[in-house]
Amino acid sequence: MNIHEYQAKELLEKYGVAVPKGIAAMSVDEAVKAAESMDTDLYVVKAQIHAGGRGAGYFTNDPSGKGGVRLCKTIDEVRDAAEAMMGKVLVTKQTGPEGKEVQRLYVTDGVDIEKEYYCSVVLDRALSRVTFMVSTEGGMDIEDVAENSPEKIVKVSVDTATGISGFHARKLAFGLGLKGAQVKSAVKFFSNLYLAFIDLDASIVEINPMVLVGDEMMALDAKMNFDPNALYRQKEVFAMRDESEEDENEKLASDNELSYVRLDGDIGCMVNGAGLAMATMDIIKLHGGEPANFLDVGGGATPERVTTAFKIILSDPSVKGILVNIFGGIMKCDIIAMGVIAAAKEVNLSVPLVVRLEGTNVEKGKELMAASGLPIISADSLGDAAIKVVEATKKSQEAA
Ligand code: ADP
Ligand code: MG
Repeated sequence: MNIHEYQAKELLEKYGVAVPKGIAAMSVDEAVKAAESMDTDLYVVKAQIHAGGRGAGYFTNDPSGKGGVRLCKTIDEVRDAAEAMMGKVLVTKQTGPEGKEVQRLYVTDGVDIEKEYYCSVVLDRALSRVTFMVSTEGGMDIEDVAENSPEKIVKVSVDTATGISGFHARKLAFGLGLKGAQVKSAVKFFSNLYLAFIDLDASIVEINPMVLVGDEMMALDAKMNFDPNALYRQKEVFAMRDESEEDENEKLASDNELSYVRLDGDIGCMVNGAGLAMATMDIIKLHGGEPANFLDVGGGATPERVTTAFKIILSDPSVKGILVNIFGGIMKCDIIAMGVIAAAKEVNLSVPLVVRLEGTNVEKGKELMAASGLPIISADSLGDAAIKVVEATKKSQEAA
């Protein structure tokens, strides 16, 4: 789960991570009021969307080309900036070309930046440790730094059994070339960031940029993701969920216990089990196709869930063919076939559908599909299914 920058900063501040003062606003008037209540001569108005790259982004229908992070010297400038952002669509490197509508703003204190750095905390699954990554290349995408100048990234891993120690934090600080009072402030920053990461069940904390203001280390931007399995014990974090930021289909999927991720291709996939889903996507690619999504209906796929899954797949206009690849174990193949048939009838299927069933009652399942009168293409193996769906999708595209 994702939250907004202002929410992440609110959480981090509670753990003693320094952030510039700021107030969230849900309207232009609120933004102006927020600025009026602040004692500063430089305000920063920041669009709050679940995507980064706002500063370098642009608003559709705004010829000025200005981005979603604006420095303002006066209250009038704050009002202009807020008006230019609120309710408008911001396009950044991370939003895709359709952009995201801005519904919340954050008015913060403009600080005098000595230097920008990069800092993130992630879970390193290979090491089973929490890993800090810092770099002197602040404000840049870490992927670009990793590619062009990997020597500028300093990594320190922390064993969660013993937690963070002074030497971990100092290693990071010295890796950034910090001196004297800066080191002291950075050590406090990293230590508190670690506590927040662990305590809040975060999966990623990214501070880009982390900045020196005088000798004090501060988080100027903050992105936090959380482990969804831990949300039951993170009530405060869960309450920060902003459903308007979530993809509608991904939300519908999560409400129905389906795992769904949209991709760029044109072959919709419905599979049970994450491993089988990955394998299915791989084999579609192997045979020259491109999956339109990852969709795992789970082990206990009921006919209702199968129908919902179908609707989700078909609501994506780029889907030109569907592959259902289900292993009937707990759920028997004939029951799955009934679900597929019911769903195909209900949603008025207009693209080719290839079904590969395997497992308990597979013969019964195949009989049901054959007798359904629907143009379902039956497949016997994973390879056979992939070849058939790639072929059928191409053909239907050519016909269209
Ligand atoms: P994004 O990563 O979405 O573009 P950031 O919060 O990182 O948004 O802001 C982009 C840039 O704007 C920062 O790298 C920094 O240079 C500047 N900036 C952001 N907040 C402030 C602030 N409070 N004071 C001064 N400059 C800021
Ligand atoms: Mg940033």
